[in-house]
Amino acid sequence: MVKKGDMFYAWTSDAKLAEKAECGGAVTQLLKFALESKAVDAVLAVRKGQDLYDAVPVIVTDPKELDQTAGSLHCGTLLLSKLVKKYLDGSNNTRMAMTVKGCDAMALYELAKRNQVNLDNILMIGVNCGGSVSPVTARKMIKEKFGVDPDKVTKEEIDRGQFIIEYEGGHKGIKMDDLEDEGYGRRGNCRRCKTKVPRQADLACGNWGVIGDKAGKATFVEVCSEKGAGLLDAAMRAGVLKTEAPDPKALEMRSKVEGSMLKLGDKWRKKDFEALGTGRDRLKKIREATSRCIKCYACIEHCPICYCVECSTKKPYFVPPGELPVSFMFHLIRFAHIADSCVNCGQCEENCPMEIPNSLFMHANQVDLEKMFGHVPGKDMSLPILALVEEKEERERLAATGSDQIFDIFK
Ligand code: FAD
Ligand code: SF4
Ligand code: SF4
Ligand code: SF4
Ligand code: SF4
Repeated sequence: MVKKGDMFYAWTSDAKLAEKAECGGAVTQLLKFALESKAVDAVLAVRKGQDLYDAVPVIVTDPKELDQTAGSLHCGTLLLSKLVKKYLDGSNNTRMAMTVKGCDAMALYELAKRNQVNLDNILMIGVNCGGSVSPVTARKMIKEKFGVDPDKVTKEEIDRGQFIIEYEGGHKGIKMDDLEDEGYGRRGNCRRCKTKVPRQADLACGNWGVIGDKAGKATFVEVCSEKGAGLLDAAMRAGVLKTEAPDPKALEMRSKVEGSMLKLGDKWRKKDFEALGTGRDRLKKIREATSRCIKCYACIEHCPICYCVECSTKKPYFVPPGELPVSFMFHLIRFAHIADSCVNCGQCEENCPMEIPNSLFMHANQVDLEKMFGHVPGKDMSLPILALVEEKEERERLAATGSDQIFDIFK
């Protein structure tokens, strides 16, 4: 019997799927098996759209259609979690299996804490994630640094610290560190991300730790929950998924890579947060950058923590309508409501038409709050800091003392 904590090399027994998949097709096979065995009603995954730079979320109910979702799109910067809340009734009436990167899994937890998604009905197949590249940056980088027409690229991958492309006439790889030093490479939030192996999911799957003749042909699967163990066990018994025990050397290698990715995340946090400064200096920088905001609401629309029916930023007594530049209150409201729970998914930055580094600002504040209160968003179901505040009690304290300092409640 498979159990939580077990680790395997896994690959599909379907040769056609294996060809299309990224590393042996275990992920697509598991999704397919969940659908075929009626463990779930639908699968939410990602498929290639117009080109390699266009990742499209898809709902699949016919297992035969799942092969089109196989493969990794590293320029796919979308967040699937909020789609579950917005378009799939929070999975309240549908049992779903979905592929999740670390940020997807974290956001699902934050939505679940707020009763916006039903995790009991969601099977999370996690993929390790070294980071994703914005489609705009990818095209620019391929043209300027690789000297290749982005439309001629047939495959892209991130392997052993390199961004590698295959194109009509050859293949080329450049070290990610070098690309990032020159302002290309992964998104800013991905550089700072420290959820590399998504153990919040039911299974965590990736190519780190796959060595020898299985390299590129199998996926390393870590079983993270009983639900994940049940699915893997059933797929193995049904003969659709092949597995083998990983070499002890592979375990060591995988944890070394994870460790160095975490260190790299710390390095980028230090660099980005130091450049942002602290206190008044940080406030000044944020005020300046957000002064170009056109109040399009894209940051709110895409943020997994923002779900309110009546958003405070739309209340005229907080943010006067029809005014540009937008009152700074708009951003202060977001900081006050989100900073304790931001999962650094990057959506508020990625989708901002004015290229305001919103996720950098929110993440910097989140990390400060984490240091103060110890709450880590997206890791488990523990409630965010603001959830600890009893509004009535707080109002009475405010009236009695004049103090609105939230941390007084811990005294
Ligand atoms: P497949 O059967 O090919 O299935 C892949 C699944 O990923 C499909 O469900 C597909 O829809 C989904 N998918 C593709 N692109 C995206 C996307 N952008 N967002 C969400 N879902 C997507 N593994 C590592 O060990 N180290 C890494 O650094 C690493 N980085 C990754 C970065 C990204 C952006 C992605 C998507 C995956 C990454 N992986 C990483 C995981 C690895 O590439 C394989 O997905 C994994 O080994 C499973 O292989 P497979 O053949 O079983 O997957
Ligand atoms: Fe991957 Fe983290 Fe970036 Fe999400 S934020 S795409 S998990 S590196
Ligand atoms: Fe302002 Fe950008 Fe948010 Fe739009 S996405 S409201 S421009 S910060
Ligand atoms: Fe993601 Fe931005 Fe919301 Fe943070 S504030 S969770 S980075 S969208
Ligand atoms: Fe809700 Fe605040 Fe986000 Fe508006 S900004 S949707 S009020 S959390």
